[in-house]
Amino acid sequence: MEPTPKEIDEIKNILRKEGKKDATDEDARDLHYRMVALADIVIDVAVDRARKEKKLKENPDGFPLDNTYTCLLCHDSANQETGWWDKVGPLCLNCRDAVRKRVITRRDIKNKDKAMYTDWELKYYFNIHPATQRKAIRDGRLKARVVENKLGKPHLFVYLIRENQDYLPSPKPGYNRVVRPGDKKSFRAVPVKGT
Ligand SMILES: [Zn+2]
Repeated sequence: MEPTPKEIDEIKNILRKEGKKDATDEDARDLHYRMVALADIVIDVAVDRARKEKKLKENPDGFPLDNTYTCLLCHDSANQETGWWDKVGPLCLNCRDAVRKRVITRRDIKNKDKAMYTDWELKYYFNIHPATQRKAIRDGRLKARVVENKLGKPHLFVYLIRENQDYLPSPKPGYNRVVRPGDKKSFRAVPVKGT
């Protein structure tokens, strides 16, 4: 879709105001093209969401995914065979079943940045190895909710912050922030090095 001369002038004015004093017609066309492409994506996403919301009204328990998504809880990739569109959004079947069995609530998933850590997040944020986490669970220092797979084996360990308040900082540290021993409310449930 080609911009009209009036649109080109308007975009050039915006670019000039934003500091690009030498904005050309070509710059304006380029930005117009990118804005149209972005708008198309935004519209596609909005239409898709609206369709899913409508389908959820007819199927309150959800329905199989129509595409590949990332599971909201465990972040595994989930597709038509392995995933489910739940009220809360895309989930893998293991996490869906955990919600159905009330191991995890939808409210906690929605609020996950303030409500919980997963096992891989403890590794990511605090470099605590999964084996160290298991030991802390066995010792009763860490309380876990376990999402199981079809075989009844652990798929994901979730640590609710409200059940581990003395140990887990909330909200999560920023991705670039290094948590040091002695930081206020830094992780104290398990030693960071070894067991
Ligand atoms: Zn999952």
